[in-house]
Amino acid sequence: MASPEPGTRKPKPSKTKTRGSSPKPAWQREMVMERIRILFNQAGESFRDHPERSRRYVEMALRLSTRYNVRFPHELKRSFCRKCHSFLVPGANAKIRTSPSQRAVTLTCMECGHVARHPYRKEKKSDN
Ligand SMILES: [Zn+2]
Repeated sequence: MASPEPGTRKPKPSKTKTRGSSPKPAWQREMVMERIRILFNQAGESFRDHPERSRRYVEMALRLSTRYNVRFPHELKRSFCRKCHSFLVPGANAKIRTSPSQRAVTLTCMECGHVARHPYRKEKKSDN
């Protein structure tokens, strides 16, 4: 009879179980999302003078999104090329077309020629 503990003690949930790939906490995803937005802002700002630098920002954002498993916001998905990772500015290095028959917006990267199709969401764009 050496144990002086009567009753049962509830174990504190201080240790988080890590089995496989644990989901990242919400605050971290928020933080990463914020960083991605900042990177895209910087990409937009440096595009005019240093387009190759804005590609760097895009790649940094891509790396963050894969590492932390954070999905890009819709509006950002359209602003870079999935193939060559160029930051895309319609009118400068990208062509944007609406295709009513496919109910999609096509975005052509003029750097590598890659065409991305983005199905319509809520907003409608009627300009050519
Ligand atoms: Zn491209």
